[in-house]
Amino acid sequence: MSNSQLDLESLIVDIPDYPEPGVVFKDITPLLGDPQGLAAAVDRIAEHFKDAGVTKVVGAEARGFMVGAPVAYKLGAGFVPARKPGKLPREVVCETYALEYGTDELQIHADALTPDDVVLLVDDLVATGGTAVAQVKLVEKFGARMAGLGFLMELEFLHPREVIAQATDADMFSLVQVK
Ligand code: AMP
Repeated sequence: MSNSQLDLESLIVDIPDYPEPGVVFKDITPLLGDPQGLAAAVDRIAEHFKDAGVTKVVGAEARGFMVGAPVAYKLGAGFVPARKPGKLPREVVCETYALEYGTDELQIHADALTPDDVVLLVDDLVATGGTAVAQVKLVEKFGARMAGLGFLMELEFLHPREVIAQATDADMFSLVQVK
């Protein structure tokens, strides 16, 4: 089967009531572990953004690293990790964002992006859009331009597109939409 025909959704497994009751966790490890699945996912995101002039892919800890770094390689771009506090060893730029209960923070090294960069944000899954918006705000702090956002899976029923559209008009692309 060619990459373009492979059913990626069949490689993402629903885990009901994980990590807490009422949440259906989307487990992407079968997709990552499948050679054709991994290649198809990375190729399709990179193909969508191949003419966007991307210089840096930003991905958040930890599954954003797994998808973002190979997409960066495929696009001939660099990869910039957005990490939880205390993980990056040098000066950082920070963005705090709201969770259902409390707040969280993402950090990027202060010299990781410049105003000349064109950024693609990549993550495994977008749910409420909060993590993505925090990264868009981080990118803006550097004066870099957002080229787009790419996801393996979009939980449409949580309406992340509307939330992200309030932060950026960059192109949002997801391989699998869950209604
Ligand atoms: P959000 O900020 O609500 O868009 O959540 C996005 C982040 O949380 C991503 O980095 C996902 O890896 C993770 N996430 C949120 N909901 C789920 C879910 N149902 N299954 C797997 N990962 C999730």
